[in-house]
Amino acid sequence: MKTSADHIALEDKYGAHNYHPLPVVLSKGEGVFVWDVEGKKYYDFLSSYSAVNQGHCHPKIVNALKQQADVLTLTSRAFYNDTLGEYEKYITDYFGFDKVLPMNTGAEAVETALKLCRKWAYQKKGLTPDSAKIIVCDGNFHGRTTTIISFSNDPDARKEFGPYTPGFINIPYNDLDALKEALKDPNIAGFMAEPIQGEAGVFVPDEGYLKGVQSLCKEAGVLFIADEVQTGIARTGQLLAVDHEDVKPDVLILGKAISGGVFPVSAVLADDEVMMCIKPGEHGSTFGGNPLANKVAIAALEVVKEEKLAENAERLGKILRDELANFDNDMITLVRGKGLLNAIVIKPKNGKEAWDVCLKLRDNGLLAKPTHGDIIRFAPPLVITEEQLMDCIAIIKKTILSF
Ligand SMILES: *Cc1c(COP(=O)(O)O)cnc(C)c1O
Repeated sequence: MKTSADHIALEDKYGAHNYHPLPVVLSKGEGVFVWDVEGKKYYDFLSSYSAVNQGHCHPKIVNALKQQADVLTLTSRAFYNDTLGEYEKYITDYFGFDKVLPMNTGAEAVETALKLCRKWAYQKKGLTPDSAKIIVCDGNFHGRTTTIISFSNDPDARKEFGPYTPGFINIPYNDLDALKEALKDPNIAGFMAEPIQGEAGVFVPDEGYLKGVQSLCKEAGVLFIADEVQTGIARTGQLLAVDHEDVKPDVLILGKAISGGVFPVSAVLADDEVMMCIKPGEHGSTFGGNPLANKVAIAALEVVKEEKLAENAERLGKILRDELANFDNDMITLVRGKGLLNAIVIKPKNGKEAWDVCLKLRDNGLLAKPTHGDIIRFAPPLVITEEQLMDCIAIIKKTILSF
């Protein structure tokens, strides 16, 4: 049987080196737990970047996949299928929008939203051809396509991938004055932001920011596009992160946990005024809206409600942040987050950094990943119980104190 080292060597030799994974090789998952090939059990504190909010291999979601897999997997959108309409009705009712446009990955859904916003600007706002601009925020993460990295500030994401797509304006995040100023440009079509910046290190904006964004966009007659690929689906303690401020974006982007991590599913939601700007032939995807995705997404969204995952994330997130904030140590300098989307900032000690902390956490049975050098995200599956969370907090404290 192959060891972890064997698997790592295989990936190293035959796979592109576009990731730098924590050295652990997983072969099984159930709920909040994953196991490596040697059989060691870990708490998953990343949840595949918040894609497995419902827990690993949730039986109801996996069952939906299995049942549909025997019947019909892909028709393309050249024909109708008997699962798509049902899914479209379900998800639009669920989130309160007129229409959905189904895609597969988060980046594709972001691209879809950008195209939709531009189309709307020409058709409804009457902007002259090719003049539309979309405002985005510094520190954003919206995916990896050529257009999306064109407005990223992350040098690793951008460097030597140019030329870049024009038509984007960057402003500071969490800065309503900057947004107000940028909106003076008459060619602005929309403003796109994450309600909490996930990849940037779980940066939570000031209370009132989203409400302010909504009213400034409305005033200026531009679309507010919320990228909730990471923050959505109960992760932050509400179904959507914008729900904390009772804000409804004009365009909502979802991905990751919309399928419970079982299948690549993403979606763009909007009302008719916006969504009906796209006509047949103008946008699409071979796999978007496929029967497997449709059945899986319905099951995954049902689980969120049935198991009250938003409530659980809200309650346990508070406990996690309280415990870590009151933990007397000189390595964790900051704890922040909302619901179960959290991060700590690590001050290096004796030459040991966030990466070393994550290796030690792994040894102690908890998997987390550093971002931007000194930040560690703590985002377990939302099915975690209070008892399990307390166990995890003990592991984290023990690990920090070992340095
Ligand atoms: C992960 C993520 C994406 C991209 O999703 P992919 O499925 O990896 O393409 C887009 N936006 C946000 C906010 C994300 O966290």
